[in-house]
Amino acid sequence: MTRLDDPSVMDDLAERAAAWVREQREKHRPGARPLDLREKRAFGGFFNSRVLDSARIALVPLIENPDFYDELPGLGLKEALDLTGALGIAYRDVILVSRRHYGAFTPWLPLVFHELVHVSQYDLLGPERFMRQYVRGWAENGFRYSGIPLEVQAYELQARYQSGSGRIFNVDKELGRRLGLFPGD
Ligand SMILES: [Zn+2]
Repeated sequence: MTRLDDPSVMDDLAERAAAWVREQREKHRPGARPLDLREKRAFGGFFNSRVLDSARIALVPLIENPDFYDELPGLGLKEALDLTGALGIAYRDVILVSRRHYGAFTPWLPLVFHELVHVSQYDLLGPERFMRQYVRGWAENGFRYSGIPLEVQAYELQARYQSGSGRIFNVDKELGRRLGLFPGD
């Protein structure tokens, strides 16, 4: 059994990650802006109003790696989940966009849509459950970012948004089905 197959190692990791999210959210929320009119109009029918009203967006020079990465050597976190390479991230309801990777040709609305799916996942699951599912999903899918079910959902719904030419679908409902939250629906 490697350390990564040990559920208590994964739970420890999820707890540290949840604490990091709380810290980052508090750090960036005061300087972040609410969704603007254009974004609210674009996303109106897709997300519930709690998500649209609570979400904040901030541009940062770079999305930093959590400091606990260095305290858990041997897990390969920096290699597998290197946040400095990320374009965007959602810390519960605070969306950070990395200036290092954001350019004039990056489509803005699909990027924010993707992050709002994560805000919705946080909203539906609660922050602790979100993080446990994220970390376990990573471990159970070959430690690949692209295999994490919460990411698969976000990319799937983002793609549907981008190809749907404005056709509206309910993100909560789609997520609820994928997360098994509304049985029998
Ligand atoms: Zn994502």
